[in-house]
Parts: sequence; structure tokens; C-alpha cells
Amino acid sequence: MLTWTFLGVGAAFAKRNFQSNVLVEAWRKGPDYQERPDDTLLIDFGSIAPLALNELRHKKGFGYLSNDRRIYYPAIRKIFITHQHADHIGGLEELALMNMFTFGDPDTGKPYKPQLISSINVLMNLWDNSLKGGLNTVPGKYALLQDYFFILSLVPEQQGRESFNMIKRYRFKLFATDHVQITRKYDWPSHGLFVEDTQTGKAVFFSGDTRFDYAAYAEMMHRAQTCFHDVQLIEQKDPVHSLLSDLRTMPAEIKKKTCLYHYGDNWDEGPFDFVEDEFAGFVRQQERMVLFE
Ligand SMILES: [Zn+2]
Ligand SMILES: [Zn+2]
Repeated sequence: MLTWTFLGVGAAFAKRNFQSNVLVEAWRKGPDYQERPDDTLLIDFGSIAPLALNELRHKKGFGYLSNDRRIYYPAIRKIFITHQHADHIGGLEELALMNMFTFGDPDTGKPYKPQLISSINVLMNLWDNSLKGGLNTVPGKYALLQDYFFILSLVPEQQGRESFNMIKRYRFKLFATDHVQITRKYDWPSHGLFVEDTQTGKAVFFSGDTRFDYAAYAEMMHRAQTCFHDVQLIEQKDPVHSLLSDLRTMPAEIKKKTCLYHYGDNWDEGPFDFVEDEFAGFVRQQERMVLFE
């Protein structure tokens, strides 16, 4: 079984919801039969994600995320990073430092190291331009990204190197998304995920942050049983997210299975009421969904 819980569903600057990061759990039996999943993955961990995870750990079924009165970060085994914006990576410094100093092995001093997964371009930028400032110095020495994480760098569109698995059965394949362009499409690295149950062939599409580009994603969205797509509610010329008005131009059968996330604080003010009929609705945060039985 694969379960999927959005820590938050908000846009980058939203305040009523947390940021659009996901806790994915892989189970051999399922949450009704076992206390903790067999494998865990965070898709992104933004600047207020520690607050979101702290809230989630108090909910029924998520007790394994707690250690005394703290978040038990070693419960997180894998972290996939879609791109470098702070609403997707801003919580990593806390996670890395707590895994090193709070949850490190008291005898050997070795940190708990989760696996950090993304494309090589995202990983290089992530260290050089974001994490290095806070993480490269620890008492008495310099540290590198690999002192905090086991690193898995993927290569998009290269067979065998563009994916990783959870408990062997579930395959996560990354693809490029058209989020922010410097001068042309794909020149600033950002990614989405196509998730497959290799036993049943069922699939899920997760857009990551992206401009509207149905032509690029149509084949994956057609194949998937469920799609998660980022959305921007406010109209804007040349946006970096997918405008709701553009998403409405997708075929009806695609919209019906598409859940919208990464939305602004005004989603429930009325003008967007049609979303629940036309799409699979706005995703609600902190609710565990079963993606694959
Ligand atoms: Zn974002
Ligand atoms: Zn972004």
C-alpha cells in the first residue's frame, strides 16, 4: 500500500495552509495492521514544513513521527526535492542539524542520514546556493552535503537513472517541469514525479511547481488514475504556476481525476466553488490518502 499525506497545500506565500509538501508512506500490510510504514519519503520540506510535520505527528496514525515532545526526524528515510524555492527546501537545515546533533548516534557521534534525492542540477544548486550557508560549518570542522545525507542523483530521461523505488514495488520517475524560465524552457531545474505501482500498473501524476503545459504532461496524466496538479487562482500574465483558467481547458475526463494543490488563501471565498464539480477538488492538507491498495 502507498499512502500520501500533504503536509500542506498552500502556495509559496499562503498563510492559511502550510506549504505544498507531501509525506509518502509505503506499507507491506497497511496502516490498519502496522504502527509504522516500511519506508517513508518527503516530497520537499519547506520553510514552515517543520511546523506542519509537528502538527501532523499529533494526529492519529502518525505517532511514529514523534520522539518525546519533538519531531522524530529519523522516521523520514528519503527526501525528494522538486526544486530550490524556499517553500520546498527551507526546512532542510533544521532536519539536517537535528539528525546530526539531536538524533546522532551517542556512541559514535555519527548523524542519522536520510537519502536525499533529486537531479544532479538541483542537488548542486541546493548545496552551493541554499544549504551551504547554514550547514557547512559544525563545531571544529567544515561539513559537506554528504555529511548529512546519502545522496542519490537522478538523470531525467535516462533509462534506469531517472527513477527510484520505495519497497521495490513503487517506482518514482522524475520529469522536468516548466516552472521558472531564465531565458528558455527548462533552463532552471525543477521536477515533477510519475509514480507507478509495478505490480498493478496503476499510476499517479504529481506536477511539482509548473507553468501550464498540458501538452508535455498529457500522456502521463492520461495514464494516471489520480493526478495532483499545482494551481494559481489569481490571473497573471506570464505566470510561473498553472492558472486555473488554463487548467479548465484540459479534457473533462482528465479534470475529473485531477486534484489541485499549491493554492492561495482565497480558495474558499466563492468564485472557485466550481472546482469541486469540474475537478477532483482542492486537496485537503494533513489527510492520509490511499494511492495504491
Ligand atoms: Zn512552490
Ligand atoms: Zn516554486
